[in-house]
Amino acid sequence: LRMADEAMYRAKRAEKDGLDPHAEELAAELGDAVRAGQLRVHYQPIATLPDGRIVGVEALVRWAHPVRGEVPPLSFIPLAEETGAIREIGAWVLEQACRQVAAWHAAGHSLHLAVNVSPRQLVPGLAERVFAVLDDSGLPYRDLIVEVTESVRVEDPVAVEELRKLHKRGIRIALDDFGTGYSTLRYLTALPVDILKIDRSFVAKLDGTPEGAAVAETVLRLSQMMHLETVAEGVESPGQAAELAGLGCVNAQGYHFARPMAADEVSDLLTEQNPA
Ligand code: C2E
Ligand code: CA
Ligand code: CA
Ligand code: CA
Repeated sequence: LRMADEAMYRAKRAEKDGLDPHAEELAAELGDAVRAGQLRVHYQPIATLPDGRIVGVEALVRWAHPVRGEVPPLSFIPLAEETGAIREIGAWVLEQACRQVAAWHAAGHSLHLAVNVSPRQLVPGLAERVFAVLDDSGLPYRDLIVEVTESVRVEDPVAVEELRKLHKRGIRIALDDFGTGYSTLRYLTALPVDILKIDRSFVAKLDGTPEGAAVAETVLRLSQMMHLETVAEGVESPGQAAELAGLGCVNAQGYHFARPMAADEVSDLLTEQNPA
């Protein structure tokens, strides 16, 4: 399983590094994908440990390409970041997802929404546009989490300012893929961070030994000392879930609980969890 993961990781890196042979064509088509209605939002449940109760969802974009079929985000998000199309895509995902989660609230399910925001989206006016989407959808500010990675430049005053504005209004900021960047600890003081998402590469190392748990445990201790919440990513087995629970991790996400899925399928899970 580990070797398969490793191979997949390398393939994804290759795509990320622009080695996708179809990259140029895709970039050209991406501009129209939103307008042509080819994008979908899937939702991956975020659960509590150890019981697996759904307390939130992460919105993950999908591109149903008319010829190529489903194009994975790792093949087109980096392109969209390069061309700037990510702004339009990101705005569309946010709007769809806020409406959907507000509808779940109206149906009696309380849960939060996490959306991914790329550095290219952190431009002047972003926070105001997010507030407008929240106001339109009726989703409470406290139920939105903005996920950023360490590709946000902490030296960029505009990016930091937009995140501060969001944070000030009660929107929470999560550091995604935590621990995989170069200057992880610097981000904790430079950005208004509320949540750390433990990268799945560290969850994959959990094997019941203290060495395997070292990084996950360190992130959990750090977050406790800094009064931050944590979410473990990529939890694939009951053993990993149990080990994380033992280390005091409260929230988790991964195939062990649920894959990213269409809104209807999440509705079914929520109804099972809270029968009317
Ligand atoms: P991410 O934000 O780290 O999202 C988590 C990724 O891990 C998702 O991949 C999800 O399907 C996958 N995953 C979840 N559980 C497991 C598990 O147990 N095992 C394994 N091996 N993988 C798991 P996905 O949907 O392919 O998205 C890949 C990346 O694309 C995301 O990584 C995020 O960086 C980016 N992305 C997706 N949607 C958006 C979006 O709307 N906007 C932006 N800016 N980026 C997005
Ligand atoms: Ca994420
Ligand atoms: Ca992540
Ligand atoms: Ca990632």
